[in-house]
Amino acid sequence: MMKLKVKYILPLITVLFIACNNNQKMEGTMQQTEPVFPKGEKITNDNFTGTAWLNYLVKTDSVHNVNIGSVTFEPGARTNWHYHKGGQILLVTEGTGLYQEKGKPVEIIKKGDVVKCPPNVEHWHGATPTESMTHIAIGTNTNIGGAVWLEAVTDEQYTK
Ligand code: MN
Repeated sequence: MMKLKVKYILPLITVLFIACNNNQKMEGTMQQTEPVFPKGEKITNDNFTGTAWLNYLVKTDSVHNVNIGSVTFEPGARTNWHYHKGGQILLVTEGTGLYQEKGKPVEIIKKGDVVKCPPNVEHWHGATPTESMTHIAIGTNTNIGGAVWLEAVTDEQYTK
């Protein structure tokens, strides 16, 4: 009786092991697939430090009053300090990054996080020093006004 059990249990364990192993391989492949939105064009204006990319997805109009872009920050890259007259919502789609409102501690933001930037509150967002981060930035209430750009985030502020 015992002999029979071992005979059947061992192949079962082998099958389960192979199944789990295949599953891990599948997940590995999934991580290497292309992002939903390509990273777009390299940002060349002075409102950013480091290398960042913009894929402009939706231009505002009088019906929707939103600007939507996917922004990818390479490690170390971040926006200048700025605020949005109509506010902004960030949807983090890849990686790990940083977000800070003036006078508050730096927050770590990661894939799946949603950040609401209230109107007229100074802040910055970007990658961590070692990891890249992509977020979809939604400029809300664009009929009220867009981003107002301020000074760069210094290395000292960034690494705090
Ligand atoms: Mn912002």
